[in-house]
Amino acid sequence: MSDNHADLIVLGAGPGGYACAFRAADLGCNVVMVDPRATLGGVCLNVGCIPSKALLHAAEILREARHGQDWGLSTGEISIDLDKLRAKKDSIVEQLTNGLVGLSKRRKVQNIRGSAVFTGDQTLNIDGENWTFDQAVIAVGSAPVRLPGWPDDERIWDSTDALELREIPKNLTIVGGGIIGLEMATVYAALGSKVSVIEFMDQIAPGADPEAASILHKALEQEGVTIHTSTKVTGVKASKSALELQCDGAFEGVIKSNAVIQAVGRHSNGSLVDPSAAGVKIDEKNIIDVDSSCRTNVPHIFAIGDVTGNPMLAHRATHQGHVAAEAACGHAAALDTQFIPSVAYTLPELAWAGLTQMQAKEGGIAHKTTSFPWAASGRNLASGGGDGLTKLIYCPHTHQVLGATIVGRNAGELLAECVLAMEMGATLEDISLSVHAHPTLSETIGFSAERALGTLTDL
Ligand code: NAD
Repeated sequence: MSDNHADLIVLGAGPGGYACAFRAADLGCNVVMVDPRATLGGVCLNVGCIPSKALLHAAEILREARHGQDWGLSTGEISIDLDKLRAKKDSIVEQLTNGLVGLSKRRKVQNIRGSAVFTGDQTLNIDGENWTFDQAVIAVGSAPVRLPGWPDDERIWDSTDALELREIPKNLTIVGGGIIGLEMATVYAALGSKVSVIEFMDQIAPGADPEAASILHKALEQEGVTIHTSTKVTGVKASKSALELQCDGAFEGVIKSNAVIQAVGRHSNGSLVDPSAAGVKIDEKNIIDVDSSCRTNVPHIFAIGDVTGNPMLAHRATHQGHVAAEAACGHAAALDTQFIPSVAYTLPELAWAGLTQMQAKEGGIAHKTTSFPWAASGRNLASGGGDGLTKLIYCPHTHQVLGATIVGRNAGELLAECVLAMEMGATLEDISLSVHAHPTLSETIGFSAERALGTLTDL
């Protein structure tokens, strides 16, 4: 056995990889974690979830300040110091990445900065050095999809470029009205850009409940964002003064922009580590198929996170990371859930988990829906909240909750109650008889359940 040997080697130090490495170390395993990035935390922590949330918080401050006038509170002219805002965002990221180094050291996880590539089913090469391993976990994440045929132009950004906050473009067009597109629209519209969003499907946040998505759509329009659904970009011309986007579909014409964000999805990085050299099957989209314990077709090699396909979400990767670590350490472990939450951290937030009404219909699943409009929520109105909705999908026979969608302030936080309810098999009665504090936004979940049961007195 060579000196370079790991009992368990984790490829990738994102929320999937580090959660897996730490859990395995806590279970007594000797763990090595490899990542080419200078800091731990992967895309999510360095150039994804966390920096975007910092900028969304800035957007919220700006919006609150501007709407303060409605409450008789004037702040005067608002100025934006882009360098300071960028430094604030970066300092939050730095605090968290440093924290991970500490957590890693205390667990004696060995971190290697480098790019790993399989050379056999128990060997790898890390930047020219050969390693052997007993078990491995592939957690190398994903990268933004680039639209083919676009010019190479520094005014065309992906999400990482957008989060760098280089400038506030006068006109910004975002191609893709999914979660990244909508979050970036929220940030840049608040910072003062004239934002247009072009979405190929017939609604923004395709996959979310259309009624809830339309509430977010209207709220974004109220903040000055122009949204074109059922529209696609068919050509791009880069001139010195602007990028010209030719659009076809429901909107036909040319949009001139100072910058464009491509937010049309992400693709798996699976092929970067050459899994086939270890005998691990990988499909044409670079997705690695795994069982419920996150094992690939090669039983001592696991895969977790975005390389295992949709939904490409950090919290799914983290849970898979724990499962893979436990399975690798000989425990019985499986990821067995249909309730992985999706959250767009826009203003207002849009959050959903479990079945949507459309999925229930398409799957021929017996269901009914109930909802509570936030216009009738005292807490929402007293907090300056706009339109919002809490909607539950439930089984008409058992009253078990099958799905939940919330759009409104803090929807992502509120959804946690619904996720727990669904995991526990809770019924509408369980929810309505749980006392929700008044006045809270969480009451809207209790009220939705009461409405279905005919016991609601608040509407
Ligand atoms: P996405 O798949 O969520 O959305 C991409 C959108 O682009 C889709 O609505 C699609 O219809 C549209 N589209 C594709 N091609 C197009 C074209 N040519 N013209 C116009 N529209 C087009 O992808 P994303 O927003 O890039 O996010 C990538 C991944 O990262 C997703 O899996 C997302 O869930 C995840 N993510 C999650 C969060 C979060 O949880 N808050 C935040 C950021 C990213």
